[in-house]
Amino acid sequence: MTGSSSEHTEKTGFETRAIHAGYEPDPTTGAVIPPIFATSTYKQDGVGGLRGGYEYSRSANPTRTALEGNLAALEEGERGFAFSSGLAAEHTVIQALCRPGDHVVIPDDAYGGTYRLFAKVEQPWGLEHTPAPVADADAVRAAVRPGQTRMIWVETPTNPLLTIGDIEALASVAHDAGALLVVDNTFASPYLQQPLTLGADVVVHSTTKYCGGHSDVVGGALVVRDLEVAERVAFHQNSIGAVAGPFDSWLTLRGLKTLAVRMERHCDNAERVVEFLGAHPAVSQVIYPGLEEHPGHAVASRQMRRYGGIVSFRVAAGEQAALDACARARVFTLAESLGGIESLIEHPGRMTHASVAGTELEVPSDLIRLSVGIETADDLLADLDRALLG
Ligand SMILES: *Cc1c(COP(=O)(O)O)cnc(C)c1O
Repeated sequence: MTGSSSEHTEKTGFETRAIHAGYEPDPTTGAVIPPIFATSTYKQDGVGGLRGGYEYSRSANPTRTALEGNLAALEEGERGFAFSSGLAAEHTVIQALCRPGDHVVIPDDAYGGTYRLFAKVEQPWGLEHTPAPVADADAVRAAVRPGQTRMIWVETPTNPLLTIGDIEALASVAHDAGALLVVDNTFASPYLQQPLTLGADVVVHSTTKYCGGHSDVVGGALVVRDLEVAERVAFHQNSIGAVAGPFDSWLTLRGLKTLAVRMERHCDNAERVVEFLGAHPAVSQVIYPGLEEHPGHAVASRQMRRYGGIVSFRVAAGEQAALDACARARVFTLAESLGGIESLIEHPGRMTHASVAGTELEVPSDLIRLSVGIETADDLLADLDRALLG
């Protein structure tokens, strides 16, 4: 019940692992899909006689175990852990690996909630942080404080400007400093990028996004490759208690089974959108790591299978035109979040990134971010055309 990647699926292909890893058909009923174990506690066969190690559902629940094993197999890690949200996963790994007085390097364009967690929750606890650009490994190295830096925290691609960090190079920077590299892999998903195989020590996910993939569940995950780190995370997962419940675990696991096919279609559709926007008179710039002119293109080509489903672009006529386009879209739903089957459009400056206005994290006011879904591509292009031309 440890959430380890199961042996017979470890060497198989990604799609096979996505569908089978972490769960064997139920021995009593043969149920092919893990049941939702809606139970808080477990009958013991005599004091301490646990069946399969299950004692209390904060510590472990079979539906969550199946999800955790699946996540570990997909990220090629030693052990997976599922949480009630991405931020719960983040807080747990920070508390597990850092102590007051320690220091971490974080992305200078970190996900807003991650930045808030470091600035407003971990800093008052005593953890110092320095923002640095993930695309510049030398700048990250310069931000390290020898002997004090415990973690380098990276997102790649970042949100919403899709900056790329070189995971192998950043792992060297971290390990040279005796620190661990933590990669938030939410935007790429384990299908497009596996940071642990590139030298990272911990992978973080908001499974709310591509892993769940259907905009119907909030969740988070950690996958680690080292047993000692796994033990610390396991202790803190149980001690802090922000675990994924059985219903949420079931939904997330159901989502993961189709991750590969969804990501392929997200990427296909995103490429169509990129090509279309690149030729559109109302658009001044398209930002996508798959474009050769993107500064992170070469690194992305090395470490990602494809370039993902998020596309950002700038509207030539400025902020009001960008706001109007967001309001006019019909197939693209105007909403925050990303990574679901449905296409979403948003204005980062006024929505997801409103809290960083006026800071160095501020994003251009004419920027629109798309989470390109898996609808019919022609309908997406027609919708964007209508939205941009008014
Ligand atoms: C959404 C998101 C998070 C936070 O996850 P929640 O599930 O909302 O708590 C963290 N990192 C990235 C990159 C995200 O997109």
